[in-house]
Amino acid sequence: TEVLYMKTIAILGSTGSIGTQTLDIVRNNEDLEVCALSAASNVTLLEEQIREFHPKLAIVYNEEAAGILKSRIADTATVVKTGMEGLLELAAMPESDILVTAIVGMIGIRPTITAIEVGKDIALANKETLVTAGHLIMPLAKEKGVQILPVDSEHSAIFQCLHGESQNRISRLLITASGGPFQGKKTEELEGMTAADALKHPTWSMGKKITIDSSTLVNKGLEVLEAHWLFDVDLDQIEVVVQPQSIIHSMVEFEDGAVMAQLGTPDMRLPIQYALYYPDRRPLPGDRLDFTKLAGITIDKPDMETFRGLKLAIEAGKTGGSMPTVFNAANEEAVAAFLADKIRFLDIYRIIEESMKRHKVIAHPDLDQILETERETREYIRSAFV
Ligand code: NAD
Ligand code: MG
Repeated sequence: TEVLYMKTIAILGSTGSIGTQTLDIVRNNEDLEVCALSAASNVTLLEEQIREFHPKLAIVYNEEAAGILKSRIADTATVVKTGMEGLLELAAMPESDILVTAIVGMIGIRPTITAIEVGKDIALANKETLVTAGHLIMPLAKEKGVQILPVDSEHSAIFQCLHGESQNRISRLLITASGGPFQGKKTEELEGMTAADALKHPTWSMGKKITIDSSTLVNKGLEVLEAHWLFDVDLDQIEVVVQPQSIIHSMVEFEDGAVMAQLGTPDMRLPIQYALYYPDRRPLPGDRLDFTKLAGITIDKPDMETFRGLKLAIEAGKTGGSMPTVFNAANEEAVAAFLADKIRFLDIYRIIEESMKRHKVIAHPDLDQILETERETREYIRSAFV
């Protein structure tokens, strides 16, 4: 069939779990093309991606790694750049229709804001950006007429459930959680858990940072705050339910009592593809749900006393202002230390809690104040804990 309209995408973080699955979607659809790819430092995979997708621009954040890539792909037409400046150039590229934010961490804030300022739609996986800067991003997107299309599976599920609904009739959002690898464990058992234990997620295969976040329930906490910004729903109207099979991806209850849910096998390519083609659906090969073979779908309450990540996130969200930035930055710093075996599992909670306790909240932080709060929080943790 003839391709009438090409959609051109730029990817922040193309070598990660979401980034590579986004490229899978591009590979399978001839009306998608890529104008820019980027990574922190994985030049081997980036080189392969460049040779397959022929982007105009490639950004490697690490300067030394960028130099290596530049010499390796000297025979191609792809231009290599580096640093935050490079990420901002990628975000604003005139060729792109949509920016996929598959980068991990609040480093995504500036590129995301830059892309919105020049009118790019955003396929948003990078939840840390919305958690810390949602109060700047959502109004800006509205002002610029830009769509923020959720890639996170729970938010995509809610977004799909809201299709064709008037949003002012939501009574509750029910965000499902797998519970992570430590579901059912008690505090004493968590004390000795290592990064290797936490990296064995039962149902989703994801990047390291989000896998640790799943094991602490910080990920669910980030997702509650993400949902608050994406769907303009009060925190009190958002509930988390544990659904270990990861079949119900999330639900919306309306004011008349109706509940809509989106179900499927756990496959991130569906929400990625939905965001890229919204409001259209496209075929997607893969396993289908066989209800007759399901042992059952169980729903439980999350254990927020043991897995304090969710509770701390909600507390940060209710305080608002700069507090979600402290929550998120402390978690990023703590998870990096945990992955490097420098702290123990339960220290992640202690570090987040101590960081939040000492922070003097800025009620309406601008971008500089968010980045300054991040810097201060990381510095405090490095001097006090690591
Ligand atoms: P990942 O660690 O697998 O990949 C992260 C990507 O970001 C890599 O390409 C890495 O090179 C790049 N990156 C990191 N720092 C960078 C920097 N300074 N400059 C340029 N690139 C940089 O992570 P992931 O699991 O794909 O997650 C990405 C985001 O999507 C996270 O915010 C995560 O919470 C969210 N998310 C992921 C999943 C999933 O299934 N993996 C699901 C929902 C949401
Ligand atoms: Mg999710």
